[in-house]
Amino acid sequence: MAATPNPILLLAAIATIATVSSSASSAHPAYDSPATSCPTFADADLVPIRREEYDGGRILDITHAYHEDMPAFESDDGIGQFLWLRESMKNGSFANISEMKFVTHTGTHVDAPGHFYQHYFEAGFDVDTLDLAILNGSYHLIHVIFVCSISRSSNYSRFVFFRSRITELPPMAATPNPILLLAAVTAIAAVSSAASSAHPAYDSPATSCSTFADADLVPIRREEYDGGRILDISHAYREDMPAFDSDDGVGQFLWLPKSMKNGSIANNSEMKFGTHTGTHVDAPGHVFQHYFEAGFDVDTLDLAILNGPALLVDVPRDKNITAEVMESLHIPRGVRRVLFRTLNTDRKLMWKKEFDYTYVGFMKDGAQWLVDNTDIKLVGIDYLSVAAYDDLIPSHLVLLKNRDIILVEGLKLENVEAGIYTLHCLPLRLIGAEGSPIRCILIK
Ligand SMILES: [Zn+2]
Ligand SMILES: [Zn+2]
Repeated sequence: MAATPNPILLLAAIATIATVSSSASSAHPAYDSPATSCPTFADADLVPIRREEYDGGRILDITHAYHEDMPAFESDDGIGQFLWLRESMKNGSFANISEMKFVTHTGTHVDAPGHFYQHYFEAGFDVDTLDLAILNGSYHLIHVIFVCSISRSSNYSRFVFFRSRITELPPMAATPNPILLLAAVTAIAAVSSAASSAHPAYDSPATSCSTFADADLVPIRREEYDGGRILDISHAYREDMPAFDSDDGVGQFLWLPKSMKNGSIANNSEMKFGTHTGTHVDAPGHVFQHYFEAGFDVDTLDLAILNGPALLVDVPRDKNITAEVMESLHIPRGVRRVLFRTLNTDRKLMWKKEFDYTYVGFMKDGAQWLVDNTDIKLVGIDYLSVAAYDDLIPSHLVLLKNRDIILVEGLKLENVEAGIYTLHCLPLRLIGAEGSPIRCILIK
């Protein structure tokens, strides 16, 4: 009702409310917490909590965690091993870094039209062309992550894993009829989804293919949905997207082992990449071996932190994020989620195949200032590491030490206005993984 409320203050107020309710227990158990028979870490404090509900039951996770014995289509063997450590601190690496591999229709997942229609597959109707305004309703929300949003540069790009959950029943609507609400949302989406995007980042797939000159067969690849209400801030996976410490980029990450062209009844692709590829999240086990062993993986991260009001701020472009810079940003107490946009965005570093060591990130003193002087529990950054290269491990150690701060890296913050949004970030439920691809969207 207040004409132009101070957005920062509003955010602080909302953040404070969230803090009170997030400690409620879960009444919706499905997965056990990891066993803690490990004698090295008998500390009760080192028992991760694995939840199916968050924020006192407001957020319900309706996606299955990945496990080796979950069923695979038409198989007696289950999905088998899908995760392994590529670099291990036990073997002297500076961090734990795992890699994952599975068929894109594993566990809770989505189908795109190209799954059963070869001409749609060839025309590029992959999972990255699905409408986020359909996948995300405004009352009974189902938020979805597609981990492999694929660019046209990959011929095999199609299906992906996702994670969905129902969130945010507004307190004002006492007991709304969910069916009616859902129908209303659908109708609105149908009307407004034709609006054009003013936030271009990826081209629509090439349609030079002479077989499908039909204009109806040109998929639209969007960065905004529902007339600009939903902004996609995750990068689509590309073979030439940068990989940490590498000149070669991510390389091939998607294959088509079952192809309709070769007589299969459907197209079924398979994907493989490091869990810190592209837009992703770090769990405490990434840089702390005792947290890794105790089970503090991405499936233990708090969805109530990953979803909620967030502030997008511009960082001074001439330096790393130091204590001095943090102080100069004047982020009020109570603000719990901040996305830091830096020179990395201006330099378009996520669009360059070669890893750039001169990227901007947190210096150790900046990380410590954040821990000591703010209430920030989610830190987002626009390149592959939240920490500047010179303080790579020290900054990670400071931020992850208390296990209450979540780091989201590799965000796509081009052409988004600084300010306050509702942030929704969903990692994959990769039990045992210290990192995960993550789909993040902003809702105005
Ligand atoms: Zn990472
Ligand atoms: Zn990191």
